Amino acid sequence: MLTANSFNWEYSYLSLPEIFYSLEKPGAFAAPHLFLINEKLCDTLCISKINFEEYISVLGTAETNEKSFAQAYAGHQFGSFTNLGDGRAIVLGEHLTPEKERFDIQLKGSGRTMYSRRGDGKATLRAMLREYLISEALFYLKIPTSRSLAVIKTGVPVYRETLQEGAALVRVMKSHIRVGTFEYAACFCSRDEHEALANYTIQRLYPEIMDDENPVLSLLNKVMINQIQLVGHWMRAGFIHGVMNTDNTAISGETFDYGPCAFMNTYHPETVFSSIDYDGRYAFANQPQIVKWNLARFAEALLPIIHIDEKKALELAQNAIDTLDVLWNEKYYEIMGKKIGIEKARPEQRILVDDLLNLMQNLKMDYTNTFYYLSNENASEKSITLPSEFNGWLEKWRHTINNTVGFKKAIAIMQQNNPVYIPRNHLVERALDEATNGNIAMFQKLLEVWSRPYNYDATYAEFMKPPDVSFDKEYRTFCGT
Ligand code: AMP
Ligand code: MG
Repeated sequence: MLTANSFNWEYSYLSLPEIFYSLEKPGAFAAPHLFLINEKLCDTLCISKINFEEYISVLGTAETNEKSFAQAYAGHQFGSFTNLGDGRAIVLGEHLTPEKERFDIQLKGSGRTMYSRRGDGKATLRAMLREYLISEALFYLKIPTSRSLAVIKTGVPVYRETLQEGAALVRVMKSHIRVGTFEYAACFCSRDEHEALANYTIQRLYPEIMDDENPVLSLLNKVMINQIQLVGHWMRAGFIHGVMNTDNTAISGETFDYGPCAFMNTYHPETVFSSIDYDGRYAFANQPQIVKWNLARFAEALLPIIHIDEKKALELAQNAIDTLDVLWNEKYYEIMGKKIGIEKARPEQRILVDDLLNLMQNLKMDYTNTFYYLSNENASEKSITLPSEFNGWLEKWRHTINNTVGFKKAIAIMQQNNPVYIPRNHLVERALDEATNGNIAMFQKLLEVWSRPYNYDATYAEFMKPPDVSFDKEYRTFCGT
């Protein structure tokens, strides 16, 4: 029954064989207190704030969802295969909007589950606020992502290096099914169970391929395209996910699990901020290689159900995976071409993108602000200038634009693809320092600025400034447990 403005719960995931989940209740709430709520997202989901507050107030009591569950999955973490599962999160249920759009409503930091291993199942207020802030920023940057509906203080302390306030994030996503869910199925499930997962996933996320000749192969192709596109957008915005393990690679093509992520200021392909990424496996410019590697793990996990004949299955999967390099190059230069005002970058124009990045690297330029400069080529007053070393490149670029789309159109394309405001690391951390000390003003201000990232506003000049070079040199991010 649909009650106006409240969650409209369904639990379609529980139609899967039991090996894919464990029924779990939120366990880590002594005194749930709503700290932050995303009213715009409430509107999108057609949930009233009042109803949501009521729902939160009973979290952890017998009245909460009968059928909330933790998901089973495995995954390659930094290249090694491990059995994992939701150790500090549960899916409260699936919310069905009046338009029949289905979303997982997940509670991250909800307490221990069957999959917690040695973890405490908890999350800190700071880490959940960080995920909230950056995931919402990605949404407004037009990058597919999980969203953040609320942060709830649990009233239970969390022991990390220091004693911290505990919190849970209410995360909204088309689905939390991951490459790792399929790796789990391939490793630990029967053929029937494996097929049940594939059928469920196709029906839920890609119903248009249901009647294809080989829907599982079509699923592989769909996920390839969506993940390639996603990472292309990360490159566009200078986003470094930081922990691109296969358990953090969503079949829906959404960004999720914002642990050690960060944005790059000064352009350098090897930029890494994660404190545990010692070898730079997940460095900025490695992301395309890693997504291809993750997709190869996905193809492997599908092998037993792509074709009954092992050899044939391998051939079909290999043929699909063999298209990845071409697929990446096309998508990447399409996306990066738009950053310099070219809608469909022809192969001979791709060099303009490469040369620009080389210049930026050599001259240690700010990634976002360099593109901002180009997007305002004709502006009479510029707050940012480019060094004279760019003159040769600028000449070639202007020549190309003049002989193709023309400047008016190019500028329009660039302004839609080059953000003016991105989550600058120093701003993120300052807002989190203040918010965890009870002052949420700067956090709210950043949410406001980053909700219109493509619109220049003279009053927001301070939000365009990168931090001192020394800040990023020492900046380290954490998995955020
Ligand atoms: P992540 O790095 O967030 O993708 O998490 C990797 C795995 O570690 C997942 O299985 C998580 O559920 C689990 N995990 C992370 N933090 C905790 C925690 N505090 N308690 C229990 N499990 C955790
Ligand atoms: Mg994860």
